[in-house]
Amino acid sequence: MKFDYVIVGGGLAAVSAIEGIRSHDPSGSIVMLSRENHPPYQRPPLSKDLWFGKLTKDQLPIHDQSFYSEQRVDLWLRREVVEVDAARRAVWDDRGTMVGYGKLLIATGGWPRRLNVEGSDHEAIRYFRSLEDYLLLESRVSSFHHALVVGGGFIGCELAAALCHSGKEVTLLYPEEYPLRRVLPRDLGLFVADYYRERGVEAVSGESVVRFDDRGGEVMASTANGNSVTTHLVVIGIGIEPQTDLAEAAGLEVGNGIEVDEYARTSDEHIYAAGDVAEFPNVALGRRMRIEHWDHAEHHGRAAGVNMAGARQPYTHLPFFFSDLFDLGWEAVGDLDSSLETHAVWKEPFRKGVVYYLREDVVRGVLLWNTWNAVDWARGLIRDAKPMTSAIREAAVPET
Ligand code: NAP
Repeated sequence: MKFDYVIVGGGLAAVSAIEGIRSHDPSGSIVMLSRENHPPYQRPPLSKDLWFGKLTKDQLPIHDQSFYSEQRVDLWLRREVVEVDAARRAVWDDRGTMVGYGKLLIATGGWPRRLNVEGSDHEAIRYFRSLEDYLLLESRVSSFHHALVVGGGFIGCELAAALCHSGKEVTLLYPEEYPLRRVLPRDLGLFVADYYRERGVEAVSGESVVRFDDRGGEVMASTANGNSVTTHLVVIGIGIEPQTDLAEAAGLEVGNGIEVDEYARTSDEHIYAAGDVAEFPNVALGRRMRIEHWDHAEHHGRAAGVNMAGARQPYTHLPFFFSDLFDLGWEAVGDLDSSLETHAVWKEPFRKGVVYYLREDVVRGVLLWNTWNAVDWARGLIRDAKPMTSAIREAAVPET
């Protein structure tokens, strides 16, 4: 069996590649192999909108089923690719089927990083990444009162807010001084921690779990500082590991992710990689990076598809990302690295404003805090790469 295009993965980057391919090749054969139970769906609402009643599950699919037949794509769900044979230009799946390819896309995303401490195999300890994870949590939500959320990143912050909104008692525990430590400037991060406390979340800074013990169906988490939390459910969000195994075994260059060029092509000219799993050259920021966010997955996947179909279009998109922390909503573009110098211009302190992330007085990142319709404006600031004098700083708040 052979297809012109084989797509490994069932997330946004994978499905966006179909659109990219079809924009240049209306007839080539395409197969997508995904280990998920569901056709590609939107992941951001799983930790946000679904919990706040802003979206329902039937709105999750990225495309109707008819999309795949109209685009003449074979969608093989519950199929895991276990090997890429680059010399033979073929992949093997877990059923022992060999599928040859003209061009291959690896869009395998990432898998939750495990917290390897004693007792972490307890049944009440969960990770949160997929629709199945959401469905499980949703099915259990009426059967527990308290949840411990471990990790102060995106999943930890968003799920703590979601569970609190659902009437649960929530402890959010993270080793850093404040949540989203790598992203937010200190004063804003400390405000967020207090804001969570005001909303009823027990936000515990500077703590990590060192072991779990069963307590008759409940689980007790012991912390590094000698404290303990007994709870019905633990959700761990401590980052993801890019799924690079297939690429490594196939002999592709792998660094912080599968290394690709500006055309999303790996070190093998017939194999491409996109989305969370790929380390790519960010043209606007002038450095290689891996990005684990929605907008990047969509545009990078599409760029990979276009180039797989024979175009030569470099990926120059400057992606944005977004989050909701209760009713503190935000969008951001560029290098949101809290170790950079930051300069905030607030219309309302910590409620509404813009934070600029500067390197040598040049804007590298922009955080739009409850400030909307300004993503393109922020992209322009970063692309212009002009020195940001104080005068410009004051004038640079968009009117939204
Ligand atoms: P994340 O945002 O990368 O945050 C993980 C956090 O856990 C980091 O602060 C990390 O610190 C910390 N950490 C690492 N090891 C730890 C440990 N042993 N104990 C406690 N904390 C530890 O990852 P995530 O929250 O798990 O989210 C998973 C993925 O989904 C990420 O790719 C994220 O970008 C994505 N996501 C995005 C959104 C959004 O864009 N709104 C929403 C949900 C999920 P260090 O950084 O120091 O390692």
